[in-house]
Amino acid sequence: MSEKNIFELSVQGRTGVRYPDIDVPLTEYPQHLKRENLALPELSELDVVRHFSHLAKLNYSIDSGFYPLGSCTMKYNPKMNEQAARQPGFASTHPLQPIETTQGNLVLMYLLQEALKEISGFHSVSLQPAAGAQGEFVGVRIIRRYLQSIGEGHRDKILIPDSAHGTNPASASMNGLKAVQVPSDERGNIDLVALQNMIDNNVAGLMVTNPNTLGLFEENICEVTKIIHAAGGLVYGDGANMNALMGIAKPADLGIDVMHFNLHKTFSTPHGGGGPGSGPVGVIEKLAPFLPSPIVAIIEPGNDEYAPLYGFIEPEQSIGRVKAFHGQFGVLVRAFAYIDLLGSDGLRLAAEHAVLNANYLLAKLKDYYHVPYPRLCKHEFVVEGAWEEAPDIHALDISKRLMDYNFHPPTNYFPLIVHEALMIEPTETESKDTLDEFIEAMISIANEAHTRPELLHAAPATAPLRRLDELKAAKELTVCCTPIFNQDD
Ligand SMILES: *Cc1c(COP(=O)(O)O)cnc(C)c1O
Repeated sequence: MSEKNIFELSVQGRTGVRYPDIDVPLTEYPQHLKRENLALPELSELDVVRHFSHLAKLNYSIDSGFYPLGSCTMKYNPKMNEQAARQPGFASTHPLQPIETTQGNLVLMYLLQEALKEISGFHSVSLQPAAGAQGEFVGVRIIRRYLQSIGEGHRDKILIPDSAHGTNPASASMNGLKAVQVPSDERGNIDLVALQNMIDNNVAGLMVTNPNTLGLFEENICEVTKIIHAAGGLVYGDGANMNALMGIAKPADLGIDVMHFNLHKTFSTPHGGGGPGSGPVGVIEKLAPFLPSPIVAIIEPGNDEYAPLYGFIEPEQSIGRVKAFHGQFGVLVRAFAYIDLLGSDGLRLAAEHAVLNANYLLAKLKDYYHVPYPRLCKHEFVVEGAWEEAPDIHALDISKRLMDYNFHPPTNYFPLIVHEALMIEPTETESKDTLDEFIEAMISIANEAHTRPELLHAAPATAPLRRLDELKAAKELTVCCTPIFNQDD
């Protein structure tokens, strides 16, 4: 079906409603408010139902298939989380209700803060930020405010490994810091010698992702954090990859001072397609006074007669609010339900299976795709989507061809340090059967690349549209339909 057919369905005079006969006296409608030729689509109810059902079927989601989009942790979202978030007590409260009437919600937020503290080893957590990127902004702002508070406000340089997510340098520069790139060594770790050479009195800190975006554990993480601390800087942890660590290692124990969590990745809430996110920030004790407000705390201890009263507190030197009201409350409920359902053993098992699944895929694919850093991976790994013998094939062709095999493509062209990168993250929620089907598709595509490259160049053959101008689609997004009918009336 062409793009035009999907959206231009209007037929003049067709309607989906029938108004009842008028049983009140007619009055004159103010003429100046009346618009002639209002270009609304004219459709029957069935037309509308079919249109939206058709669009829904075009949607690819974790509920419809395997979604190995590296760095995004597209794990299955248990339906129990959805049930929890839809409880009227959670879904229908108003954020300005008196706290005495919303104690259940506050207890949930408090317990989630406590759980995230336990998982990460941090002293305090704020649930305010609405996404990972906003959490980064908050974390770097806290580092800056802390340094200013101890008379080190001149420190304006932040070191960021070349494998980092693009949001890292963006968060640094939005905070007025200069992002300086640290090279990786041949094992995919931060190059310690280069790092040491970049240290001076202007270093505010380092932003580190561990495991990094190559899916590799920073083998010298404790050495790295020691170097930064010795230089008077602080270490920001990008917590997007906590799915490999939760229940196994605590970032605070590795020398991280402040980190964001991506609840919508690690803690299983639906995302992709721009769905809601949540990026709580955890900090060590000396940074706690700077956290965004408010934070949920017990403001009146309980006694034999009364339960404790939960309310909001504002840290003394808080950087302020970064989000209206109390953060993405619906996402907080889902993440809490997930953590509570799994418990500490379950979280650890989830991380172990995420790592096992990634290593299984890597082991099965390494003979067919070039692996730039061939070592044990964590929850994801990166291969090259190119071969010397097939010079016309690129990572994008492989990604598009995977759509014909009914799989969501991996992340491509990131991290930037890998040539024609394909970044694959299976997550723990996939069965061995699904992984085997994906392996078969990837091997088959590798063979096609060498024998029938035209199949890859023509892909996707099964999607409603072929290759799109992705940049234009992102930069010039048209979110509303401009009807082209009725214009001559
Ligand atoms: C997803 C991601 C981010 C940004 O998180 P958002 O919630 O998408 O803003 C930052 N760093 C890494 C490594 C990520 O994977």
